[in-house]
Amino acid sequence: MKKSVTMALAGNPNAGKTTLFNELTGARQHVGNYPGITVDYKEGHFTRKDQEITLTDLPGTYSMTAYSVEEIVSRDFLTGRKPDVVINIVDASNLERNLYLTTQFLEMGVPLVIALNMIDVAKDRGIEVRAEKLEELLGIPVVPIIARSGAGVEELIGRALDVSSSDRIWSPKDISYGEDLDEVLMELDSIISTASFLTKTYPPHFTAIKYLEHDDQVLTQGQKADSIVAQQLEQKIGTVSDHLLKTMDVYPEAIIADHRYGFIKSIIRQGVQTHKFDTDRLYTSDKIDKVLTNRLIGPVVMLAILFGLYQFTFSWSELPVSWMGSLFGWMGSVVDTSLPDGPVKSMLISGVIDGVGGVLGFVPLIMFMFFGIAVLEDSGYLARVAFMMDRVFRTFGLHGSSVMPFIVSGGIAGGCAVPGVMATRTLRSPKERIATLLTVPFMNCGAKVPVLVLLIGAFFADHKALYMFLFTMLAWLVALLVAKFLRMTVLKGEATPFVMELPPYRFPTLRGLLIHTWERTWQYIKKAGTVILGISIVLWALMTYPGLPASQQDIFAAKRTTVNQSYPESIREELVAHKQGTGELSEKGQQLQEELTAIDQEESGAGLRNSIAGRIGTFLEPVSSLAGFDWRTNIALLGGFAAKEVIISTLGTAYSMGEVEVDASDSLGERLVRDPHWNGIVAVAVLIFIMFYAPCFVTVICIAKEAGSWKWAFFSMAFNTVFAFLASLAVFQIGSILG
Ligand code: GDP
Ligand code: MG
Repeated sequence: MKKSVTMALAGNPNAGKTTLFNELTGARQHVGNYPGITVDYKEGHFTRKDQEITLTDLPGTYSMTAYSVEEIVSRDFLTGRKPDVVINIVDASNLERNLYLTTQFLEMGVPLVIALNMIDVAKDRGIEVRAEKLEELLGIPVVPIIARSGAGVEELIGRALDVSSSDRIWSPKDISYGEDLDEVLMELDSIISTASFLTKTYPPHFTAIKYLEHDDQVLTQGQKADSIVAQQLEQKIGTVSDHLLKTMDVYPEAIIADHRYGFIKSIIRQGVQTHKFDTDRLYTSDKIDKVLTNRLIGPVVMLAILFGLYQFTFSWSELPVSWMGSLFGWMGSVVDTSLPDGPVKSMLISGVIDGVGGVLGFVPLIMFMFFGIAVLEDSGYLARVAFMMDRVFRTFGLHGSSVMPFIVSGGIAGGCAVPGVMATRTLRSPKERIATLLTVPFMNCGAKVPVLVLLIGAFFADHKALYMFLFTMLAWLVALLVAKFLRMTVLKGEATPFVMELPPYRFPTLRGLLIHTWERTWQYIKKAGTVILGISIVLWALMTYPGLPASQQDIFAAKRTTVNQSYPESIREELVAHKQGTGELSEKGQQLQEELTAIDQEESGAGLRNSIAGRIGTFLEPVSSLAGFDWRTNIALLGGFAAKEVIISTLGTAYSMGEVEVDASDSLGERLVRDPHWNGIVAVAVLIFIMFYAPCFVTVICIAKEAGSWKWAFFSMAFNTVFAFLASLAVFQIGSILG
């Protein structure tokens, strides 16, 4: 068995790394338009020509300088793990900018193969790139591919395997940075080589360049490795920098960048790239953007598109959602008729089926929502949303890059705050970052959506899409106002400038859309199947035990006897026969049944109130009722601390326990509408509380991790809960006064 070959995929964000990675390894993970959602690299395996190949998908970067987490991760991987081959994916439709990173791989001296991707897009734009010419000029293999269709991929891997098995020596490429710098570089090179300074990690020439570029990470590593040499190097650079600043008013970094671009331009001009059409013709993408990101039309179109997304999601998913409801209702009635009364049956119906069913019942809706978001994301429109929102974000003390975390967390409803919190890593300024971290949990994540759908469906059935839309806008408004508040108080500080590119519009593929939809839906289902099942059983137990004391049970038994005795023997027998499925009930019989049911209801209500959860809920009721929450709602809100998904299932359990007959057609929504404690105002107050109170436990842990201290995690739990309570209190009190 030959040893396994290691390959790494590197390139600019959106160059197609993940698409190629999926094509080769068959792995299923996110393919999207956004730089920076995933900072971790992904690994996969495949076999070609009897060779076991390990492939790593590195985060997208524009350079190899330690400016961002992505750059550090990629660079550390290349210098630390030293893969046998680096496959540099280059977007052929954007050659000049993409080759900037390539020059840095050449300078690092890593074994390199270029995958010239998106030649289809380039062709559409009238750009032709000559791979053979580029190969000749750069002196490394260049293979044209279309990652999305797989064209050229086999040849690419073949050439990459050739590189891994050849004994070519890859020495760092020496690009000229102009007289001033070249001279200094030579001096630095020799100091570094003689002292074997950092040579285990980087080639000497690369270290020298990084010193000139003032790369923080390399400077720190240098200080640690050999502070005397480091001192010497820093002194030399200090002198050049001063000199350059005085004579030309520039930093060495800028000169280096200029020369790299010069190097690229000279290559491209030597017949590598030709335009069939007039170069300054407007590309389709730019033409579309003229309209879609127009200052006036843009926001209007954006609101219309987002509103359309809601219409699509909610009206199209109505039918499948009702199917799921009937499915779980049917399962409940099967268990009801086939098992004897007792704790097992109660646990299966009230704990398992109602709990998990409440969550899984929304799967069709979530799938429609994710599908809609995937269309926006894959087509490139989501990036335009971020671009337009940036203007707004600045006024609230946030950064353009905050938009993505908000959208991921559920800014278009139905995301998750956990990846949203992690997506804040792309923010450089700590204060803007913490302000973003603390406010993304206000978005309507996938777990809150079902609650919104349930309550809006029950109380505002005539205007579902409108209310969903308004609650989404409310989430944004509150998040932005709170961010502004934080940035004016605990997180005071300057704003940092924003640069972001708009990827060209692309026609999404059905396969890509389905994969995205499924991945996200599956995450939701996994959560429902594991965490939620456990929690809903625990909550069921909390709501069932210790149960009513015997003395109380006797009182209810006595009541039943009294009622029974007030009816003649024949009516009682009629009822027994009816329960066994034989015979109709007379008017008297029905009356008896109703009276007995009322007693049963009273008893199970008393039992729930006496349970552990009921006691906590009741204990909180004097305060919570100021905002319209009864003790059952309190139980559900307590459960929501663990995971927001639990809220619905707990409400389901709490409100099914008060009734004896589990009627499949009688949904939780209908039960709530009938309940005297509930009305439209209560529904809004509860929704507002759920939207803004403490984030779920997993999110809180992530906040602690990302903010670097538990202080902010506790802050977010306490601050959000107090804020949410005051807000729903105001809604309920004012709403009640106005009627
Ligand atoms: P990454 O950021 O480098 O991982 O890039 P992705 O793999 O996520 O690709 C970004 C977008 O480009 C996705 O929408 C892909 O479907 C699309 N894409 C990737 N390769 C090609 C290609 O060769 N042709 C076309 N037309 N689209 C591509
Ligand atoms: Mg990617």
